[in-house]
Amino acid sequence: MSGEDAQHEQQGSAEHRCQERMVLVAHLRRCGIESERVLAAIARIPRERFIPTALSSQAYYDEPLPIGLGQTVSQPTIVAQMTEALELTGTETVLEIGTGSGYQTAVLACLCAKVISIERHEALSREAAARLEDLGVRNAFLHVADGTLGWPAEAPYDAILATGSLPDVPEALLSQLAINGGILVGPVGSRALQHLVAVRRSGVGYTRRTLGGCRFVPLIGKAGWDDEESGAS
Ligand code: SAM
Repeated sequence: MSGEDAQHEQQGSAEHRCQERMVLVAHLRRCGIESERVLAAIARIPRERFIPTALSSQAYYDEPLPIGLGQTVSQPTIVAQMTEALELTGTETVLEIGTGSGYQTAVLACLCAKVISIERHEALSREAAARLEDLGVRNAFLHVADGTLGWPAEAPYDAILATGSLPDVPEALLSQLAINGGILVGPVGSRALQHLVAVRRSGVGYTRRTLGGCRFVPLIGKAGWDDEESGAS
């Protein structure tokens, strides 16, 4: 193949990916996602770069996909719903628990000032960091740690997103939310099934609302689950 042919093929594939993202965005609108900022971020981030090459043709299916070590990148409707619930305007510092592939991190990075993302698997964190670097994401900072305890060094956070399930919302995370309107979103419930909750902190305490049922892989840690029995997301 000549250099020119290769360039045409690459352009064709980039255009095809762009069309796939637009189809996904139309689907997200039909599913009730209203935030134009969130939809624009999803239209911008190439999900195929965050999954194994062998699954690349499924990158824009509305499904969770395996990313190695028994973990998954969440399905786009869940990513969009959780991100929308954080009500980001662009100025916030956000804590994400469960970096995984880095896809959700990249979406958040489009929508806020700074993302701190914690992952317990060093290998996943390293791969995610390389992808984010390749894409030119400069406002995301990754750490390897037990994220169920939060990341006190940079608290308070305007928003906290737990991308794996928890038995309940850990006290440590609540205490790291900004007092005036900090929002935490995450799946809470049993190991098998959870509901998505959004907790808002104010000067007088916390208000909690439920966004619907879901099924996530577990967050393993001191304020999470004990071991690595299977889950899905
Ligand atoms: N947001 C990710 C993405 O876009 O690819 C998907 C996250 S996946 C559903 C949940 C992630 O949480 C997994 O990568 C898992 O290794 C990680 N995890 C589990 N327990 C954790 C803990 N205590 N602290 C930090 N990360 C944890």
